[in-house]
Amino acid sequence: MARINVLPKNVAELIAAGEVVERPASVIKELVENSIDAGATAITVEIQRGGVTYMRITDNGCGISRDDVPTAFLRHATSKIKTGDDLNNIGTLGFRGEALAAISSVAHIEMLTCTKDEQLGTRYVISGGVEQDFFETGCPVGTTIIVRDIFFNTPARMKFLKTDVAESNAVALVMDRMALSHPEVSFKFIRDGKQTLTTAGDGKLSSAIYSVLGREYFGGLISAENAQDGVTVTGFVCKPVLCRPNRNGQFFFLNGRLVKSGTACAALEQAYKNSAMVGKFPYCVLNISVPLDTVDVNVHPAKTEVRFTDERRVFNCIYYAVKSALAAGDTRPEMTLDKKPVNRFQNMSVEEFRQTVIKETPKDEKTVPVFEEKPKTNFSLSDTKKMLFDETPERLSMLNSSKKAEREEPALPPPPVVEEKCVEIQDEKPPVKYIGEAFKTYIVAEQGNDIYLIDKHAAHERILFEQIKKSAKTERQMLISSVSVPLQKNEYNAIIENPELLSIAGFEIEDFGIDTVLVTAVPAMLEGADIPSAVREIAESIIKTGTATLERIDDIFHIVACRSAIKAGNLQSAEELSAIAERVLSSDDIMYCPHGRPVAMKLSRREIEKQFGRIQ
Ligand code: ADP
Ligand code: MG
Repeated sequence: MARINVLPKNVAELIAAGEVVERPASVIKELVENSIDAGATAITVEIQRGGVTYMRITDNGCGISRDDVPTAFLRHATSKIKTGDDLNNIGTLGFRGEALAAISSVAHIEMLTCTKDEQLGTRYVISGGVEQDFFETGCPVGTTIIVRDIFFNTPARMKFLKTDVAESNAVALVMDRMALSHPEVSFKFIRDGKQTLTTAGDGKLSSAIYSVLGREYFGGLISAENAQDGVTVTGFVCKPVLCRPNRNGQFFFLNGRLVKSGTACAALEQAYKNSAMVGKFPYCVLNISVPLDTVDVNVHPAKTEVRFTDERRVFNCIYYAVKSALAAGDTRPEMTLDKKPVNRFQNMSVEEFRQTVIKETPKDEKTVPVFEEKPKTNFSLSDTKKMLFDETPERLSMLNSSKKAEREEPALPPPPVVEEKCVEIQDEKPPVKYIGEAFKTYIVAEQGNDIYLIDKHAAHERILFEQIKKSAKTERQMLISSVSVPLQKNEYNAIIENPELLSIAGFEIEDFGIDTVLVTAVPAMLEGADIPSAVREIAESIIKTGTATLERIDDIFHIVACRSAIKAGNLQSAEELSAIAERVLSSDDIMYCPHGRPVAMKLSRREIEKQFGRIQ
């Protein structure tokens, strides 16, 4: 072994810098966080060539007083905490005192800073951790930091950088997240001379979302808020029909810091269960606030995972925020008609008109206006307590009493019993008039000033699903002769290992041995349906669904609803169809089929009259 040496300061700094400074985006994150901690209300970031050659961050924060400037660049130098106890109460984004030291050890830095108490500001230049220049200079209150040639002294690190475009994109993402988490700050981002982001800094999350994520994203949002057990959730979630094929649109902020949290994500998605299509994910911008001492931020600086001391409270608060937002703010998708000129000849010259008339066969369908689905938005969270939870108190207490199932499911606690029965306060709905059926698939009905197309099978399935959720336990049917169902080994195990689950769903099943079960009772609605295949399907779903109890039960209800819908055959009579229309349109709980497809679409009288040219 060679002799043991204490590494020179600059080498130690280089090693430490590796932790904090991975790429230009991580520099921007640290420096913008410093600006926010300094109380800035306006922050401008400019980068060139992905930030590799040039980054400039300007803020109007408190600045650093001259004597403190060199200290700020030392490792473990911070104004944000003093003692170990302070670590339990971190209210700033930074606290490690590492960023300036780390960045200055791998780049050329120039800082201009001035506090409100100083006549003159300070210019400080430091390169590869070595001070180059330090003098008074005139500059406004606040701080500007210019970082040039990152990794100039560590070429090995340069090699890990991606293309300039990829590095720029990574910086842009950091800026987006900063802007979303701090609507009270006005951000500007200039990328290779082009300003690509500006936020108002008016303190409104909605303005920040509009600027950062664009009109389309913004247009699909419903506001969500809730406060319970010391946790507060505010923000926006998307309408279920707009769910996306991935989770990229999900933003969770905890006390102003972007976080990844399995609990938050699970609570969000659980609240969309049976409203969002299978395989699609909701998007959201949700701010979660918890008391500072109930969260551990002291994880790796570059990591965003977060741990709460009480995951269940956070889960519940988010779950109910989202659930009530969806109940209050979701509306049926609305159809608009194509905005083609009604009179297709009106813009033609006389000659064109003549030619067209000569050429055309009388049957031209091309100009018939087309239905186009365009979901209507509703941002306002109605201040009435209009909460339509799917879970009835009876059902939830059934779930809670299922001890075994709960033990299996630590990550996804079922929401607690809702103490008060949630009341539905809504305006009286106008009567529903059944008009007819189109394409043997859609019910056409009129209500007030709207015409609805209702997907009869989707609606029927959802109606049965809601019915069985409410009545599974009470409306079970003993079978006159029990049905024996031979199963595959794993199906058999899934069934006999979950007696409570099946009993909640309305089944009574006995173990017959030799991979066979005996069904003695079924949910009343299933009587006369193909019971063996329903049991097999349930077994498969239990195998597939992993551990979440709520989901498993919903899946079983869903299977029962599907089966009894099949049993009902192809609904045809006007009475049946009219009853479905009545059920769907008389309240707002039948919005989506259990797979998350919309059940009904609305076409307003106004839209029709516009198209006929009766109104403008
Ligand atoms: P930390 O943010 O963890 O405290 P940094 O190395 O990022 O550590 O910054 C060191 C100190 O320099 C901060 O604690 C703060 O006092 C000061 N500082 C850094 N950037 C700014 C800024 N933009 N405005 C005012 N003070 C700043
Ligand atoms: Mg910092």
